Amino acid sequence: MVPPAPVLTSGGPQPCRRPCFGWPPLCGPGAIKEIVRQIRLRDLGGIIVVDFIDMDERKNRQKVMQALEEAMRADRAPYKILQFNDFGLVAITRKRVKQSLERTLCTPCPYCEGAGYVKSPQTVVGEILQEAQKIARAVESKDVMLRVSPEVARLLKSNQNTYLQELEEILGRTVIVKSDNQLHQEKFDLA
Ligand SMILES: [Zn+2]
Repeated sequence: MVPPAPVLTSGGPQPCRRPCFGWPPLCGPGAIKEIVRQIRLRDLGGIIVVDFIDMDERKNRQKVMQALEEAMRADRAPYKILQFNDFGLVAITRKRVKQSLERTLCTPCPYCEGAGYVKSPQTVVGEILQEAQKIARAVESKDVMLRVSPEVARLLKSNQNTYLQELEEILGRTVIVKSDNQLHQEKFDLA
């Protein structure tokens, strides 16, 4: 995310000459504090580009960097200030406080192992059908027990589809679906 860049001129109040988007131009010594205050207030994350115009002199650049570093120091969020480039831009990379709080207070979801997704019941049923094809010839019992998560069981028992019939045709046997709420949605047991 690159929020609109504030425009800042150094060396006391003077009119800002460049048009800018979003934030109004900030001028004078108070500008850096205001930029940092806004960053914190909005809890901005990602790369924040600050455009310091009329900052050709190296001495002034150093002063601005010092002031910026000082103002940012109180920030609770992890950040990094990248030096001026040739165009007078300073980039600040910052992790949002909320994000870093999540990091501190939470662990990756044990169910999806942090992926944020689990295989859908349809996908799991597809895998069950594949597995059935592999074991079909080896099955000797009169019927077959299929242990699945409640979500997958619900899908198999629904009369909106013919998965269970397909499965029984592949195996040539009656399949008894057992719903097990201790079972992970991606896992099944066909025996
Ligand atoms: Zn999860």
